[in-house]
Amino acid sequence: MSDVPAGRTPRLQWVRAGLTFAILLAALNAVGQGTAPRDGPPWLVVLGSAQDGGIPQAGSPDHPAWVNTDLRRRVVSLGLVEPATGQRWIFEATPDFREQLHLLDEIAPVDASPGLAGIFLTHAHIGHYTGLIFLGHESLGAREVPVFAMPGMRHFLSNNGPWSQLVGYGNIVLRALEAGTPVPLGDRLFVTPFLVPHRQEFAEVVGFRIEGPNRTVLFIPDIDSWEEWDAWGVSIEDEIASVDVAYLDATFFADGELPGRDMSGFPHPFIAHSMERFAALPEAERGKIRFIHLNHSNPAADPDAAVRAEIEAGGFFVAAEGERVTL
Ligand SMILES: [Zn+2]
Ligand SMILES: [Zn+2]
Repeated sequence: MSDVPAGRTPRLQWVRAGLTFAILLAALNAVGQGTAPRDGPPWLVVLGSAQDGGIPQAGSPDHPAWVNTDLRRRVVSLGLVEPATGQRWIFEATPDFREQLHLLDEIAPVDASPGLAGIFLTHAHIGHYTGLIFLGHESLGAREVPVFAMPGMRHFLSNNGPWSQLVGYGNIVLRALEAGTPVPLGDRLFVTPFLVPHRQEFAEVVGFRIEGPNRTVLFIPDIDSWEEWDAWGVSIEDEIASVDVAYLDATFFADGELPGRDMSGFPHPFIAHSMERFAALPEAERGKIRFIHLNHSNPAADPDAAVRAEIEAGGFFVAAEGERVTL
């Protein structure tokens, strides 16, 4: 961390200044954009930030994003790149997988197709796994792409078409995930799934800790509520404290967002509630939080919306597609 030259014994304040500068630099570099590095530490890139239905969503003809393409958002997904080995992974196989793989090909090109060392899945809701179809016979016809999934999810994919065909044809190979057990991706990258409370029609639901040599990222695209997690004995504040960047479920901004519908029973933490709950955290902790998985109705998806200023004034951020975290 320190930029003190080797072989010298600097005075204490120089060490302090060096450390402060290094910490400041680390904070500034934690999330960035621009040219993707071809060497150095592994990094993550946000490939999508919308809820399962995408923005704009089907059946919302008046949504401004149909006209203003700057407002369009792909379904939530992260890309992970290890420059040391040239390997790439994707978190979630979304309905926007085609474009997201292309985006990854542009920023971290590889010779192979699809050139993925693995796909990590959180759960069996449509925004999070249905993009697997593009690996199949009718599309790119992938060979044995590892798909990391929990037991219920593996059972679901193995026993229901068209997913079972991907398994049967060897387009994908299912790899086991176990809650709390890190999956090593080489010698300096680790992905650990953990269970979260969220409706489980077909399979269990997990989030991921993605740990590199310098930084760790928390990825929780879907959770019913922070309070339900409290009841499990898990504190989101402790989880945030243990990472450098936290991508958190921010499906809706506030109650009343869906006209004519009582949203009190909607199983996602509203941004307004998260901001209230996290307001007591120190600024450095709040600054780790980057809201993701935004519904098409969520005003925070528009960078020019008034609520964005409110979010940023609270010390929080909204994830931007293309932003990178150096691990
Ligand atoms: Zn979702
Ligand atoms: Zn879900």
